[in-house]
Order: sequence, then C-alpha cells, then structure tokens
Amino acid sequence: METTTSTAPFGNALVLGLGKTGADVARYLVGRSASVTLYGGLASKEGPLVEELRELGINVVLGTEDIEGAYDLAVVSPGISENSAFFANARSHATEVMGEPEFAWRQSPKNWVAITGTNGKTTTTALTTELLRAAGMDAEAVGNIGTLITGALEGRRAGQWFVAELSSYQLATTSQLHPRAACLLNVTPDHLSWHGSMEAYALAKEKVFANFGPEDLAVVSCEDEWCRAAIKRLEARGLSVCHLSTSADPLTTNAAFARDGMLVVRLAGVEHELVGIDELFIKGEHNVQNSLAAASLALFVGADIEGVRAGLRAFKPLEHRIEPCGSIAGVSFVNDSKATNTDSVEKALTAFVPGSVVLLLGGKDKGTDLTSLMQAAATTCHAVVCFGAAGERMEEAAHACLDAAGVTVARAGHLEDALDAGIALARPGDVVLLSPACASFDEFSSFEERGRVFKDLVAARIAAAGEGC
Ligand code: ADP
Repeated sequence: METTTSTAPFGNALVLGLGKTGADVARYLVGRSASVTLYGGLASKEGPLVEELRELGINVVLGTEDIEGAYDLAVVSPGISENSAFFANARSHATEVMGEPEFAWRQSPKNWVAITGTNGKTTTTALTTELLRAAGMDAEAVGNIGTLITGALEGRRAGQWFVAELSSYQLATTSQLHPRAACLLNVTPDHLSWHGSMEAYALAKEKVFANFGPEDLAVVSCEDEWCRAAIKRLEARGLSVCHLSTSADPLTTNAAFARDGMLVVRLAGVEHELVGIDELFIKGEHNVQNSLAAASLALFVGADIEGVRAGLRAFKPLEHRIEPCGSIAGVSFVNDSKATNTDSVEKALTAFVPGSVVLLLGGKDKGTDLTSLMQAAATTCHAVVCFGAAGERMEEAAHACLDAAGVTVARAGHLEDALDAGIALARPGDVVLLSPACASFDEFSSFEERGRVFKDLVAARIAAAGEGC
C-alpha cells in the first residue's frame, strides 16, 4: 500500500498521559524513535497497559508530574490543560511541545479538512466524510469523532482525505497544522474552566485557521458574535471565508445558506443549488447548518455536485443525536441523549412541529440558566417531564415559564419513570423526546449508555404494545 506518512526521526520523545491518546502515540513513536518516555500523571497506576507499553521498550513513569530529562519532542494528551503544571513541566524539558493532532499532521500533512465548534462537530465530520465518499473520493473521519488520528496514519492511502474533528483542547496545542479547508460552526460558552475564559476558548477554536493562505477556504457561521468576530479577523488577513447562514443569503462571494427551502452553496461566486431541506433525514435548524457546512467543505476540496446531493439525501442521524427509535400508537420516540447542554436542546426542538413534543429533561445538573430553554419549550412542547438529580430545579424553572403557556409539567424519579410519564402524557402524533440538557452521570456512565438504555426501554414498550418500529 502506498502511504503518505513520513518517517521523520524523533530522537528523544516524551509523551504525557496514559489514556488512549498517550498509549497510541507512544506505540507509534517507539518504532521510529531512539527512545520514548511516557509520564502517566499523578493518578496513573500499574496495570496491563503499562506492562504492554514497557514490553515495547517504552519507559513509563507513574504517579508524578515532575518530569526529568531532556527531550526533542513532547506530545501531550488532550485531557491535560495547557495551563497546568504538568504541561508547563513538559515545556521546560522538551524542545517542542504539541498535541496529538499537530503531531499527526506533521507526519502526514496533505489533504486535511478540519471541523471545530461548540456543537455539531461530530455530525458535520461524519457528513463531510460521507459526502466525499459519495463523490467517489477516499475519505476517513478522524480525531475527536473516535478514531485517533495517529492510529489512522499507519494505513493512510495516498490521496486520502482526513476529515478531522478537532476540539478546542486539541487546537490549543497546534502550531503548524494547516488544513486545506476548515469550518468553525459556532462558539457558545462551554469548557471555560479548561481554557480560563471565553476569549481563550474562542481563540483556541480560531487556531484552526492560523496557517491559512489565500488558496484555502474557511467556512464560518455568521450567526453568533464570536464567529462574526472571527470572520472579520480572517477577512482582514485576505483569506477566503464562506459565510454560513441557516437563513438569508449573506451575499458574499463564498456563502452557504438556505433559500426557499433549498440548500445553496456559492463558491468563488458560482452558485450550486443542492437539495431541499425536507429531503434531509437529519432534522432541525442546526442540521441545516451542519449540512451546509459539510457541503461547502466537500465541494471546495473537489467533490462533484451530484455526489454531494446523493450524500446529503442518504445521510442518516448518528446514534444519540435526534435519533428516531420507534413508535407506539402514533406516538414516536426520539433519542437525543447527546444533548447535554441547553443550547443543543433548543436546537433539537426546532426539528419538531410546535406543540407536539413531550420533552424528557434531566440528569446531572450543569447549573446553567434555564430561561431561554423554557421559552423554547413553551412553543414546541405539549408537556415537559423533569427527572433525575436536576429534576427539582428543572421543574421549578418549567413551572415558572410553562404554566402560563398551558404546557403540562410533570416530575419523575429516573429515566424509566420519566419515559412512562411521557408516554402517559403523549397524544397520537406527539413525539416523546429524550433531549436532557444535562450530563448523564447521576444515573449512567455516559450519554451513550443513557441513550442505549432509553432505546432498550422504548423497544420493550413497543414489544409489549405489539408494534414494530
Ligand atoms: P459535537 O461533536 O460538537 O458535540 P454533535 O454533532 O455530536 O456535536 O451534536 C451534539 C448535540 O449538539 C446534538 O445533540 C444537537 O442537539 C446539537 N447540535 C448539533 N449540531 C449543532 C449545531 N450546528 N449548532 C448547535 N447545536 C448543534
């Protein structure tokens, strides 16, 4: 197989972190480097993984952040903040310090598309990959979406496109990363404790464009203030920016927008009408944005229009993201367990007919203000069921806003009771939507587990009612 991976010598290499990233990078390096030292961090302990890495010749140091020695290169896992003492120690012991995406990019820098933003990254990354494939191009989704980029380097084919989902954590530690096209979907408050401030968080995301030149394309939303500020800075550098809008035509040379129910992308002044919004399986305003972003990126890097149209028409919702999971007596069930913040729930509600939603809301409270969410629920929901550790606060906020709107508010203990309360409240034509606006950790180990349990509970009720999906 022809690969695009370089085999640069690494000298003395340092890896920070003993999770999947640290272990995979250390494995990748050990065959190519004179020596690899991995520091697991304060909480790291002996175990089978440590044994395996040591057998490969990696020097694994556990239980400390005090780094010793001098290194040519340090690769830091994404869980370790740039502002931490551990990171600072790496800086003072290594000539260069970087995160895993930067490391992978330097190994194989051609044909990258990158996607970042607070919400919508995974969907847009998967969709862009599908659009490229539908156009007959070789593409692989990598990064935060679940495939470590370094792990994908080994078998990378010449000409293959990497579509990389990059979080702000990962971007914070890049310096030379230079995709051919990249997208900033949105910037809303999140992860502020890691970055220190909203400015630092927004600027970390904008780093995806740091090395762009006039031949590259930045696709940026013009619908939030942080993104609009980014557009100004990018245009001041003379870069091409595709303005991303879910409604009106931004009237720019490069633009992606909706017109009369159609998705439209204009690149270098040439307009392409793609497909109708009602032809998409992925629903809601946010998915119009994700589809426009993915289509702009795919068209820019060479996908043909027919391929992009076919890909848009074929793409199904990802698991746990407004994922339909069956119906009973005209009541349908939707799993949006990935909606762990209020903004995502507000977006999810735009996917449904006003007045038709029985919303299941709750879990581990994030303490966020609930006013705007409840205002959105007032127009879209027929009922709201509040459950879990956040149940009481949710219920209070719901009564304050929804009683006057005539929306029923109910309370349940756990997810299963919430589902049954939702079924009892739903009328034919309604949608029982799990879009909890909370983390899952009061009852589950992850949003994935919560979503799977929800689907199993729904399946059991469908079976009991004697109906199919
Ligand atoms: P991420 O990978 O950034 O977390 P996902 O594609 O997994 O994004 O979507 C997570 C949640 O965010 C979804 O459940 C949806 O409710 C919401 N969402 C998806 N796309 C967008 C968008 N473009 N803008 C705002 N919210 C979105």
